[in-house]
Amino acid sequence: MIGIFGGTFDPVHHGHLRPALDCLQGLGLERLSFVPLKVAVHREQPRADAQARFAMLEAAIQSEPGFAVDPRELLRETPSYTYETLMSLRDELGPRRSLCLLIGADAFAGFLRWYRPMEILEMAHLVVMRRPGHDPAEEPALRDLYRARGCEDAAALAALPSGRIQFQDVTQLGISSTRIRQLIAQGKRPRYLLPDPVLDYIERTGLYRTGSDG
Ligand code: ATP
Repeated sequence: MIGIFGGTFDPVHHGHLRPALDCLQGLGLERLSFVPLKVAVHREQPRADAQARFAMLEAAIQSEPGFAVDPRELLRETPSYTYETLMSLRDELGPRRSLCLLIGADAFAGFLRWYRPMEILEMAHLVVMRRPGHDPAEEPALRDLYRARGCEDAAALAALPSGRIQFQDVTQLGISSTRIRQLIAQGKRPRYLLPDPVLDYIERTGLYRTGSDG
């Protein structure tokens, strides 16, 4: 079973990395690929360009052999639809391989408004990582979906290629990229919220010093 974890990663931080490692180990994934988006669909565009976000991800995961960075969304100029990303991954993996799409609880809250959500579930399982301050299934429609598709056991996920939804307990870290960008724009150091090599990159390149995050 393999996993992918999509996001802006503007910048990547420990609130992405530790929960991702919890999933890698807790679900017994063979590998987990971080997939940075190029053109955001449901949110503001990233502050750092694609190359910088890719470089920061590479710096963050260099010592974890189970992690990889997958640049496929960065190579497309069109909006980064997860549906298209999963189509291209399925072409490579074939129909039978078990595939998990990791998302945070806040992202899951908007899942039914994504492009082709039910087709996404035909191509992958959803692994919803609990996140401080976010109830993963507030909406009745999401609760119904979870009732129909919910799964509580990694072995059951591994037995099927796609289609189930698992709420995964992960280390609860109240860290966000927004907060990190705000700290930098205020001239404060965001140290210990993100890996040192990522902070070194940010300081070297002067990223996020002029802020527009409020
Ligand atoms: P921003 O503050 O810019 O919105 P973010 O910190 O939410 O960024 P993203 O790159 O947008 O980070 O998130 C990518 C994915 O990681 C999303 O599915 C999000 O829910 C999840 N995620 C981000 N931070 C955490 C966290 N602290 N705990 C659990 N999941 C998280």
